[in-house]
Amino acid sequence: MKKDLLENKIFQMAVSQFDRTADFLELDSSVRERCKWPKRLITVTVPIQRDNGDTEVFFGYRVQHHLSRGPVKGGLRYHPSVSLGEVAALAMWMNWKCALMGLPFGGGKGGITCDPLTLSIHEIENLTRRFTMEILPFIGPETDVMAPDMGTNEQTMAWITDVYSTHAGHFVPGITTGKPVELLGSEGRTQATGHGVAFLITRAFDKLNIKEKSATAIIQGFGNVGSYTAFTLSRYGISVTGISDVTGAIWNDQGINIEELMRYVHETRGVKGFPGAEPIDPDEMLIQPCDALVPAALERVINEKNAAQLQCRVLAEAANGPTTPLADIILETRNDIFLIPDILCNAGGVTVSYFEWVQNLQRYQWSEQEVLTKLETKLETAFEKVTQFAERSQTSHRIAALSLGIEEVASAKSARGLFP
Ligand code: NAD
Repeated sequence: MKKDLLENKIFQMAVSQFDRTADFLELDSSVRERCKWPKRLITVTVPIQRDNGDTEVFFGYRVQHHLSRGPVKGGLRYHPSVSLGEVAALAMWMNWKCALMGLPFGGGKGGITCDPLTLSIHEIENLTRRFTMEILPFIGPETDVMAPDMGTNEQTMAWITDVYSTHAGHFVPGITTGKPVELLGSEGRTQATGHGVAFLITRAFDKLNIKEKSATAIIQGFGNVGSYTAFTLSRYGISVTGISDVTGAIWNDQGINIEELMRYVHETRGVKGFPGAEPIDPDEMLIQPCDALVPAALERVINEKNAAQLQCRVLAEAANGPTTPLADIILETRNDIFLIPDILCNAGGVTVSYFEWVQNLQRYQWSEQEVLTKLETKLETAFEKVTQFAERSQTSHRIAALSLGIEEVASAKSARGLFP
């Protein structure tokens, strides 16, 4: 199993970051291996009947990295590239993220290898309900709480909540987060990740003395995270000049009208052909001059091929794992780009998920303003911790953020001891 995981490039990335940070921390060998390897790796087959009457079997995964500090928390991804190794890497990053943010969760992640764009809504519903049944013995509000990720949304969470609650015989809202408000989802959860990314970009701009009104941003990905990042940045007066998604990339020197683009994408399912901008090559877009570059789609998009060519002042990692370890070394050598590492940058989502879980357990609803204010306070605290740690220890923001997260998990494991 170790060998299978280590053959996956994304898992290799997560392990390489962990090893580098564990070396930096001189982490005791007794706890090091326990922190590194996932506690549970669950693989299930998910058979469904397609709309044409054929039966098709999909593969689904759920990885629970560790349960030492509480239930695992993490998204569910529907994408053709989903594999056990990718899910295990994402679960590992979720650990350090939750610990860095001071949330009482371990890291989890799940996914089904499928292309949601080729499935009907009816087929996606069946896939989700059957997957939930298959992993039912392993999930629960005190064990494993799911949330949306790439290719899933609040409707997916509503179906999972329905299956789990039907099986339990009573409504169990705490089984998911990121669900519709009608099912006790939290106000502010849908925009939380993008809101947090935009908020942290302004914190980095403050440190670099960049004025928002004259600043520009480029965003890769215009799904949940990318679109709400763009929306919030434009509210702050920052001009978003380039945006790409799976259909192509668009550019406007004067700034793209984000609300119009959101309406356009809602109708056409992609940014391609948006009348308020010109097309641009997606790879070229990433290396155009800008104040903030925001990868908000896939892993490994900032790599050894483009890291030296980036012309941004701030690299805000809204996606999980967008920068390869080799690119990290290039960026560290350049030392002219302010990195907001993924486990900090996109932590708005899991933080408001935590708020949702707390509200669900208490059967209490907070207002959107209350949620976003609490979110900004938590992000501000973590941002200051990371930048101060990096300055004090003369290390990168990535190593600083990972160190804070890993130290927290290692201390919890040491305090609990080894059973039996
Ligand atoms: P989403 O499915 O809503 O959107 C994904 C976007 O990426 C889409 O616009 C899609 O077209 C685009 N995309 C796919 N392939 C692309 C390519 N080759 N080039 C450019 N764009 C491409 O997903 P999301 O929820 O916005 O998640 C995006 C990233 O943010 C993922 O890495 C996810 O793990 C991370 N993340 C999401 C959340 C959350 O709350 N949704 C929280 C933390 C981290």
